[in-house]
Amino acid sequence: MQIVTVPAQTLNRLVSTDCCRIDPVNCGLLIAVYLELQVKLPFSLSKPTEWEDAMTIHTGGCLCGAISYELEQDAVVTAMHCHCLDCQKSTGSGKATIIAIPESSLTVEGTLKYYSVVGTDGATVNRGFCENCGSPVISAVVGVEGWEAIKLIKAGSLDDSSWVTVNANIWKSSARHWDAVREELPTFEHNYQN
Ligand SMILES: [Zn+2]
Ligand SMILES: [Zn+2]
Repeated sequence: MQIVTVPAQTLNRLVSTDCCRIDPVNCGLLIAVYLELQVKLPFSLSKPTEWEDAMTIHTGGCLCGAISYELEQDAVVTAMHCHCLDCQKSTGSGKATIIAIPESSLTVEGTLKYYSVVGTDGATVNRGFCENCGSPVISAVVGVEGWEAIKLIKAGSLDDSSWVTVNANIWKSSARHWDAVREELPTFEHNYQN
């Protein structure tokens, strides 16, 4: 493992891109990532040395194949386990493992359907899923400055997720005993800053 600094251009994309009509995620995961970059890092972003190949492209999509995407591995900001209740409901499991990436480094084919929820912090989380097979694939947070340019990919939707490194846990407060929080990682009771 090696420590990697977030590229300045990635930072700029995060804070200056204004597009949005995205469809974020749930529990403030985006906020977590954003604060992580704006404030000081409470933990280090890290990735395996094999990530040295800067422009590695990964593919993913839903179970039936109607939705597919490509993302640039080098642009990934972070990955987290989210144990919030919305993630549990929407995935049917104990947590969602989510990869945050600037939308400029992501291309999507197919049309996602969205289910939107207003989170505890007032931001709207748009959860994108395949209308045909129901797979949750891509989410986004709307209504929080700086988050419009970020997409959240469900790690399990990747065709090959062996390269993913999870950096933190959020929403430990609602984690279930049958899917315990990985305490060796930086862990937050609620959203990242709480
Ligand atoms: Zn599908
Ligand atoms: Zn969540």
